[in-house]
Amino acid sequence: MKCTSCGASLPENASTCEYCGTKAPAPENNDDKIFDLIKQSPQYASQMVQAQSARMRPKGPMPFIAMGLFFFVWCGVGLFITTMFFSHVGMLGILPLGMVLFGVVAMLSTLGKALGSGGGPMKVIPAIVLRKKGSAVPPGGFGESFGVIFKFESGRSEEFFVADGLLYERLSEQDAGILSVRDNQVVKFDEVLV
Ligand SMILES: [Zn+2]
Repeated sequence: MKCTSCGASLPENASTCEYCGTKAPAPENNDDKIFDLIKQSPQYASQMVQAQSARMRPKGPMPFIAMGLFFFVWCGVGLFITTMFFSHVGMLGILPLGMVLFGVVAMLSTLGKALGSGGGPMKVIPAIVLRKKGSAVPPGGFGESFGVIFKFESGRSEEFFVADGLLYERLSEQDAGILSVRDNQVVKFDEVLV
């Protein structure tokens, strides 16, 4: 960079000119410009609208009613068959009983996953990929994931986890875009070309 007053060439990070003492222009903060571009992108506008409508949409009780009904019918029919078996073939009645129990366990685990995947609210934040950390096990999670450190407009950086290997491959350091996260998990990253 050049001194605006005397034209001497100065090191990039100099705050004052060493020849004439003129205050050097503050170094441009490139990140600020990038975050502005992200927020002006059409992708950002549409993500915000989507996030907004997802928050507004109430989770109806229908899945629970359907599950309850299924549970009722499954147990009813299962117990009826079990009783029939016991009274006609004796101990072989244990077979349909096992099937009923299996169904109940499978359903409870599905229900648990359905409730669990809701998690916290989805957050949509302009971000820059700061560093890809490779495979990692997220705290409180299980199975392999990939850790990625993102930088935010506030200057803060934070690590999030990517479960999808393809998404992880697609990310490059310094990519700018819109990060959608739920808890510490990356849901998606829409790159914005800046
Ligand atoms: Zn100067």
